[in-house]
Amino acid sequence: MSRGLTELTVSEAGDRLAESEVTAEALTEAHLAAAEAARALNIFVCETPDRALEQARASDARRASGEILGPLDGIPIAVKDLFCTEDVPTTAASHILDGFTAPYESTVSAKLKAAGAVMVGKTNLDEFAMGSSNATSYFGPVKNPWRGKTGKDLVPGGSSGGSAAAVAARTCLAAIGTDTGGSIRQPASLCGVVGMKPTYGRCSRWGIVAFASSLDQAGPITRTVRDAAIVLGVIAGHDPRDSTSARVEVPDFETALRAGDVRGLKVGIPKEYRVDGTPDEIEELWERGADWLRDAGASVEAISLPHTEYALPAYYIVAPAEASSNLARYDGVRFGLRVPGESLDEMYENTRGRGFGPEVRRRVLIGTYVLSAGYYDAYYVKAQRVRTLIARDFHKAFERVDVVLTPTTPSAAFPIGEKMDDPIAMYLNDVFTVPANLSGLPGISVPAGLDADGLPLGLHLIGRPFDEETVLRAAQALENAAKFSGVPDFVEARR
Ligand code: GLN
Repeated sequence: MSRGLTELTVSEAGDRLAESEVTAEALTEAHLAAAEAARALNIFVCETPDRALEQARASDARRASGEILGPLDGIPIAVKDLFCTEDVPTTAASHILDGFTAPYESTVSAKLKAAGAVMVGKTNLDEFAMGSSNATSYFGPVKNPWRGKTGKDLVPGGSSGGSAAAVAARTCLAAIGTDTGGSIRQPASLCGVVGMKPTYGRCSRWGIVAFASSLDQAGPITRTVRDAAIVLGVIAGHDPRDSTSARVEVPDFETALRAGDVRGLKVGIPKEYRVDGTPDEIEELWERGADWLRDAGASVEAISLPHTEYALPAYYIVAPAEASSNLARYDGVRFGLRVPGESLDEMYENTRGRGFGPEVRRRVLIGTYVLSAGYYDAYYVKAQRVRTLIARDFHKAFERVDVVLTPTTPSAAFPIGEKMDDPIAMYLNDVFTVPANLSGLPGISVPAGLDADGLPLGLHLIGRPFDEETVLRAAQALENAAKFSGVPDFVEARR
C-alpha cells in the first residue's frame, strides 16, 4: 500500500484525496517512511515528521468539512534548506548559520503552507547554493538514488541536489529548489525528474538566503511536467516584499497545459551549444528531442546565439560579485556561528574563515576581487555588458522561434568526489543552463532518456519571459514522446 502511495504524481494524489480514497495522513506517513528508509542518501538536513503529520491531519480535517485550499492541500513536499522557515532551522548547508532559525517565513514556503502542502523536511544543498554536485554541503554530499551500471555513489547534481534526490527517491511528491545558474535544472536532469526555473521575477525571493540576487529564482522539482505546472501555480506571484518580483498575472498553468499542444510551435536549436567534448549520446538525445517535437507538429530550425561562449565566464564573475556582497552579513554578530578572537577584526576573520567552506571562500575572494577599484571595469562591468549581449541574442532569437531546445547538462551524474579539485570542470556543468539565468528567462529540464550506463539525461527548453505556459507545453510534448519510465536503483532495490 505505502509503496503505491509514494509512486503517485501530485495530480494523481490530489484526485485520490478528492475521492476520499486516501487521507493526507496516510500519504504523509508513506513518505515519511520512505524518507527514513532513504537516510543513507543524506537527502535531508532536517526531517520534520511531527509537523508534517500535524499538517496532514489538519488537511484531512479541512477536507472533511468541505474546505480545500487548492491542488497541494495534503500533498507531501520537501523544501530546499535555503528557504527561511520560522519554526524549523535554516542552514543553507553552511557551518556559519549554526543554530540559526529565521524569525520569518519565506514567501514561497509561506504560500505552500497556506495552500495546505505538508512539509516532510528541508533538503540538503551545496553550501549557500554554490555548486553543481552537492559536495560542498557542510552536512556532507547527497547520494544520487541512481547508480546505473557504475557501481559507484554518484552526485545528484547541485545545488538543489537534495530536492531532486528527494523527489527521485520517492520521499515526497514534489520539492522546491532555487536556480541561480542551473541549480534546479541540472540536478533534475541528473536525478531523472522534472525541474523548472521560472522567469526571474515570477516567484518572490523574499526569505530565500541570497546567493546572487539578480539571478536567484525559486522553482518546482517534480516527477511530471503537469506537477511542475501545479506547483508553480501555487508559488508564483507578485510580492510587495520583493521589489524584483513582477506585477504580472499568474495564469492557470495546468489548464494551459491541458488545453494546448505544440502544433505550429517554432523550436530553435542554437548552433553555438554544440560544445566540444559533449558525449555523442547527449548529441543524439538532443536530435531525438528535436524529432519528437517535429513529430508532435512543431517546426524546428537552427538559430544563432552568438555570445553563448561568454555566458559561463560572465556568470562566474557576476554571481561571485553578488555573493561576496550578500555574504558580507555573516560576521559572527548577526547570525549563527561566532568564533571568538582577541579583537573584533580577529573575531570576523575567525568566524568567516571557519564558518565558510572552501568553495564559498573562493567565491567571496573572486567576487571581492572583481569588484575592487582597480578591476571593476575590467571584470565586473565587462561581464555585465556581456550579460546584456547574451540577453539580446535571446531576444532576437525569440522573434523567430517560441522556445529553444538544448541538452540540460554536458554529462550524466558523475562519482562523488570527482571534479572537486578542478573548479573549472565543475563550473562546466552549467554551460547549458547559465544563459537563461543571465537573461532572466524561464527554463525547464525534462527526463528524456538513459545513457549507456543507465543514468538519466534531461532535455532543456528555454522560453520567452513570462511565457512559462509555452515552455510547459513543449516540455509536455517531450515528456509524452520520451516516455521516460526509469526508476532509480535505490527505489528499485526496495521494491
Ligand atoms: N552550479 C552553479 C554555481 O555553482 C549554479 C548554482 C545555482 O544555480 N545555485 O554557481
